[in-house]
Amino acid sequence: MSSESARVSSCDTPTCSSDAETITPEGYVCESCAAKIAVEYEQARERDLEAGSGEA
Ligand SMILES: [Zn+2]
Repeated sequence: MSSESARVSSCDTPTCSSDAETITPEGYVCESCAAKIAVEYEQARERDLEAGSGEA
């Protein structure tokens, strides 16, 4: 085992260099990116519900 103190992982968003704090479907990201991802997933889910309502 390494005796170095564990470094906090950095956000998985390529354009972001914040410390990762939250696991999301997109990876381990910081809180602001997690919030953005959550909004995107919510929008995608709503689109799917609307688009899928006529499907058998
Ligand atoms: Zn981030």
